[in-house]
Amino acid sequence: MLLFLLIFCFSFAHSQKQYSDHTYLIFKSTQENLNFRSNLYKDETLDFLQRSPQIDADNVIFLKPDQIEQTRQRFQREKIAFELEDVPHFDYPTPREDNKRISRRSLTDFKLTAFNDVDEQVAFMKSLAKKHSDFVELEVFGKSAQGKPLYLLKIGYPLNGTKKSGVFIDANIHAREWITSSTAFWIINELVTNSTHKDLLTKVDVYVVPMLNPDGYMWSRKRDRMWRRNRNHFSSNSESDCVGVDLNRNFPFHWSPRDIDFVPDQCHQNYPGPEPGSEEETKSLMKVLKRLSTLRAYIALHSRGDLILYPWGFAKNHLPPDVHVLIEMAHKIRAGIFSSRGNNFTVLNSADMYLAAGIAHDYAKSSGIKYSYTLELTKIREYRPTEAEIEPVGREVFAGILVLLQDIFLEILL
Ligand SMILES: [Zn+2]
Repeated sequence: MLLFLLIFCFSFAHSQKQYSDHTYLIFKSTQENLNFRSNLYKDETLDFLQRSPQIDADNVIFLKPDQIEQTRQRFQREKIAFELEDVPHFDYPTPREDNKRISRRSLTDFKLTAFNDVDEQVAFMKSLAKKHSDFVELEVFGKSAQGKPLYLLKIGYPLNGTKKSGVFIDANIHAREWITSSTAFWIINELVTNSTHKDLLTKVDVYVVPMLNPDGYMWSRKRDRMWRRNRNHFSSNSESDCVGVDLNRNFPFHWSPRDIDFVPDQCHQNYPGPEPGSEEETKSLMKVLKRLSTLRAYIALHSRGDLILYPWGFAKNHLPPDVHVLIEMAHKIRAGIFSSRGNNFTVLNSADMYLAAGIAHDYAKSSGIKYSYTLELTKIREYRPTEAEIEPVGREVFAGILVLLQDIFLEILL
């Protein structure tokens, strides 16, 4: 038995990717480096872990070995100060699912202040729907590339009421952005367990997909902490980097436009897929959005940068006709977030940050959902989110979402 365990641990450890040959490059946003910075933000060959337009805030780029020297020279030529930091050893979560049979998983395995695995998340949602069946409903709305069910949780009084307005939240479409699903669960838990929100929920239904990319998320927990895409296998080699699609580039709205400078190939982490809406996860989400015709808001949770981004993302200087309404609401959400612990998010057009086509908030806005945003959660120097961040980030984002819900509630009453 001991031998078996040793072999198991040994083989597991060896299949977990480390990035000791990579480097973090960190530089501050200044007034002087604005142009240089905007050009860097647009460079899709660079993996930006954090873009921070605010002056004095840190930007973090994750450099591959073959990018280190040329990027360093690029900074030195422009006399822009930067720091290089070693990528520390990644500790992968202990696979709790191997310790217990899935059928015996329960609410007690799920911790609000932990990064839970997919089975724990599902058990938690099932328990909530069972315990609060008068206002919480769980639905399988599709499947992932590898056949895992995708769950949608609806919270609202009454469950089968007349056509109410809705707010839709998606999280963890990008596998490595764990803080987004923990935040989605924070929001769910607050709405379900705090009865002061009952009034709101009689007028507005809240729909949450806390885990849109379960295959990618589990891959990032078990094998590659920096994995971003889904796990659709185009190649027979599952270890290859050329697996998967960036789901947040796959939506069929200005998908992969020809006029952008860089078209990511199949091995690039921003690969938009073979065609618009090609992926199971994307298709399933599109179907749900089509069905829910009374949505007033769509919030896509991402990480990092402390940003509230509004459409459009596919091209610069293209804004929706009601952009002033979008900006006004974004500032209300920003103030809500600020009220929690004084963290100041920046409101920005997403294309002003970087061009990204085929993204969820553009698709949602194009399908008529008035308030569509991407929230980039957290901004700290150390890239990997720790479980200590879950509660403060959960609290502040909920404070922002609450303002949105209250405003929609008032709009309905007026
Ligand atoms: Zn993201």
